[in-house]
Amino acid sequence: MKDLSISARFIKGVGPSRLKLLNRLGIETVEDLLYYMPSRYEDRSKIKPVAEVKPGSFETIKAKVLTFGDRTTKRGMNIFKVAMGDTTGVIHAVWFNQPYMKDKFKIGQELILYGKVENINKLRYSVRGLQINNPEYEILTGTKDDSVHMGRIVPIYRLTENLNQRWLRNILNFTITHYIDGIKDLLPYDIRRRNSLMVLKEAVRNIHFPISEIVFEKAKHRLIFDEFLLLQVGIALKRAKIKIDLKGLTHNIDGRLIDRFKKILPFEFTDAQSKVIKEIEQDMKNSKPMNRLLQGDVGSGKTVVALYALILTVQNGYQGALMVPTEILAEQHYRNIKDLLKDLSIRVVLLAGDINAQERARRRHMIETGDADIIVGTHALIQQGVNFKRLGLAVIDEQHKFGVMQRAILRSKSMNPDVLIMTATPIPRTLALTLYGDLDISIIDELPPGRGEIKTLYFEEVNREKAYLLAGEQARLGRQVYVVYPLIEDSEKSDLRAAKNMYKELTSFFSDTPHLSSPHRGEGKGEGVGSLKVALLHGKMKSKEKEKIMGDFKANKIDILVSTIIIEVGVDVRNASCMIIEHAERFGLSQLHQLRGRIGRSHHISYCVLISDPKSEEAKRRLYAMLKTQDGFKIAEEDLEIRGPGEFFGTKQHGLPELKIGNIVRDRELLEIAKSEALELIKKDRFLRRPENRFIREGLMKKFKREELELASIG
Ligand code: ADP
Ligand code: MG
Repeated sequence: MKDLSISARFIKGVGPSRLKLLNRLGIETVEDLLYYMPSRYEDRSKIKPVAEVKPGSFETIKAKVLTFGDRTTKRGMNIFKVAMGDTTGVIHAVWFNQPYMKDKFKIGQELILYGKVENINKLRYSVRGLQINNPEYEILTGTKDDSVHMGRIVPIYRLTENLNQRWLRNILNFTITHYIDGIKDLLPYDIRRRNSLMVLKEAVRNIHFPISEIVFEKAKHRLIFDEFLLLQVGIALKRAKIKIDLKGLTHNIDGRLIDRFKKILPFEFTDAQSKVIKEIEQDMKNSKPMNRLLQGDVGSGKTVVALYALILTVQNGYQGALMVPTEILAEQHYRNIKDLLKDLSIRVVLLAGDINAQERARRRHMIETGDADIIVGTHALIQQGVNFKRLGLAVIDEQHKFGVMQRAILRSKSMNPDVLIMTATPIPRTLALTLYGDLDISIIDELPPGRGEIKTLYFEEVNREKAYLLAGEQARLGRQVYVVYPLIEDSEKSDLRAAKNMYKELTSFFSDTPHLSSPHRGEGKGEGVGSLKVALLHGKMKSKEKEKIMGDFKANKIDILVSTIIIEVGVDVRNASCMIIEHAERFGLSQLHQLRGRIGRSHHISYCVLISDPKSEEAKRRLYAMLKTQDGFKIAEEDLEIRGPGEFFGTKQHGLPELKIGNIVRDRELLEIAKSEALELIKKDRFLRRPENRFIREGLMKKFKREELELASIG
């Protein structure tokens, strides 16, 4: 059998310099080549004549170069145009600012073009002025070689500079012809049969050069199945390991401290919170370490649930850590918790921001000796040099900002403490269950009572002032406003408005806007007693400054807070009723949703204003989604759809291997099937020692090798 782990250098046509280019695509071995998936396909078995292409759609055209030339516009843009034709018509291919393109073509050459066709003669009916901007192209040679590239469904690969499509396709064609026999089928026969899966070799061959659409679908199905199966086996093993191997702490859930905590809470838990607390208590009672994901929309009251669990651990003589993504948030939580618990003699310590070395050492010492009960912090918490005396519970807030690695480090800081992860970027439950197979899941699916409606509005740039007027009106009524910008400072590279400058502008804009509410509100809010006070907050400010500004805002000494995205998560100021987001197209959907979650926290009506002139389709979809719904789960689903799972989850963040072909959203059903096969497999052969599972084990080791899956034990 051929060895596929040899360097791609052994393929005919791949020399040292081309090998480097392949490396850039992540291809090192022959096997990598075989599994280098096409990014799309072109059906060149039925290419349309020019006369039949439709403006507005993506088309593949085969035509000859008739003539070409370039010109430079008044503004200095170079436009290179190639007139191409077949027997039915003429179309222009156009490249902008790529003057070197003119060296690539010769008159009479035959080309394949792919791109979006436009009719630039919109006003005239009779004449079509067809044009394709920046098309992908391939020059045909007229040799028999062309049969790899013509008259069939043809793979199109993602390239890198200096590699061309035709060359790479030839390389793959060669590799498949000579090395396909080296592919070992990963799957035991019974799984293959049960799911009517194509033989792996055939699947790989047909994913590159499909003989028909039907066969292609089967090939894809097989490869996705394999990918999902490995993923699910990996997850199942990880879960099994946690279940069986790890002994953690047991917590006593009844006690005086938790009773007193319940008494001092200024509100009743919602039903959803109570349900989740029960689930957490069950976990904490148990000696198996808790590993739970708490999902809930912004403002649904996750923090107080976390605090409940933290108190439980303190009650049992352990320490509890709360790890959050930003300094501001750490500060806020610290202050709130301290405040709330002041009568319970619980020692709360903050570990975040730029405190001096001596103070830091003192706090670390408290953590080490057990003088600190609850420790709130940023990633500073998991830095070297922080050692807990007896960590019983680690709560990780807004987990999408933390990687799996960090979670693992935190866990390693003590004897398998319980871990609770909270996220406000919730994903649908079934998906979460399959994906975070190693976590149990709790969901808070209702908001605390007494929340006012949030109206989400959309203004075009030209109407910005209207948004400011609305903000001014809210502030004059005694409520508070956030105005958020994508950048801190103006930059030469873009004409985006930025926080610093806009702080000045808005200060002067609001300088003569008086308060309507009671006279004392004006006091201490800037010089002109009675006028609105504007302040600036951004990530480059010193911790102390940030602290001061947030403190003042919380104390309602600031009316309008001009800020960057640093207030995105967690910030909790009830009186804030207006969120203005400038250049809203610059923010991701979950960021927008998080920002909006800063308001609507009192019984007043709140306003979220998106100011934007979105250009891209994606940006428009994001804004539309914001206007359409306020449900975090729906937002997340939409986000997933717009960005695709890879980006949504950020492979590095969730620690799962990258999926090359499967899509956990699109292929949800297959993911489920793979999951049940994986569980079955592990049940029968927990260590994958049976000969028929050998390749699965090998595949798994390879796939997860850089991950934190602790699979060494199955090796
Ligand atoms: P999340 O972290 O889920 O975004 P928070 O924990 O910040 O939400 O809660 C938002 C606000 O709601 C906080 O001010 C919190 O004190 C308050 N809150 C939480 N639970 C309740 C409840 N059951 N009733 C009333 N207010 C609540
Ligand atoms: Mg929160």
